[in-house]
Amino acid sequence: MIELTHISKVYDGPNKVTALKDISLSIKEGEIFGVIGQSGAGKSTLIRCINMLERPTSGSVLVDGVEMTKLDGNALREQRKNIGMIFQHFNLLSSRTVYENVAFPLELQGMSKDEIRQRILPILDIVKLSDRLDNYPSQLSGGQKQRVGIARALASNPKVLLCDEATSALDPQTTKSILELLKDINEKLKLTIVLITHEMQVIKEICDRVAVIEGGIIIEEGPVLDVFTAP
Ligand code: ADP
Ligand code: ADP
Repeated sequence: MIELTHISKVYDGPNKVTALKDISLSIKEGEIFGVIGQSGAGKSTLIRCINMLERPTSGSVLVDGVEMTKLDGNALREQRKNIGMIFQHFNLLSSRTVYENVAFPLELQGMSKDEIRQRILPILDIVKLSDRLDNYPSQLSGGQKQRVGIARALASNPKVLLCDEATSALDPQTTKSILELLKDINEKLKLTIVLITHEMQVIKEICDRVAVIEGGIIIEEGPVLDVFTAP
């Protein structure tokens, strides 16, 4: 589903930073793939190179057979409908309700109000926010806010969900419930999930396979049980 081949990323500026060095990864359809590493290791850069929020300096990024690095403008917007993303700090619009936050990306796509309703009410049900549609983000707990983030990401029927430290701002119990929801969505919607985290527990909880990144290099990769089981 996702093929990264010889990806490098150099941030230009007074001091050049090589954030990723010749990374190759293959993520299969339907799996939950984790990338773990310390702060500054390159996790965020790596996950953003999948949807071209960052452009790799060199290398190839295939998502569902499409070469992402060659896309821009409308073609990139169109392909990004296949790639949802959720964030550590949720990135919700504070002046809009739960319903409006989830509807917003579809409005931008020009979808009709009826179509939007039909599309997002079942999604808000899956994330258990049906009784919160008219609340504003400030009236929600952290876990509820992230469930809005998840619903918004699912609204365009993506094949891939990118999770950028999605549970790092949440307490352990809420983290567990969000991870269970992600697992549930992965199974029900056959969604491929890529998540980055600095927390081992997150990887152990839901990932099928994991890559360990350090200094922009993948130093280990494999099934979670192989990588994290002490000999
Ligand atoms: P992580 O997500 O693992 O914390 P990042 O991908 O954010 O790592 O960062 C990897 C390296 O790239 C770090 O050295 C960081 O300082 C640098 N970096 C990240 N974003 C930028 C940027 N926009 N400009 C310059 N350097 C950056
Ligand atoms: P973070 O909090 O993880 O550092 P940013 O605050 O830099 O992320 O947010 C990146 C921007 O990209 C946000 O404004 C967000 O709304 C937008 N965005 C969200 N999902 C996508 C997507 N699938 N593709 C492109 N851009 C997105």
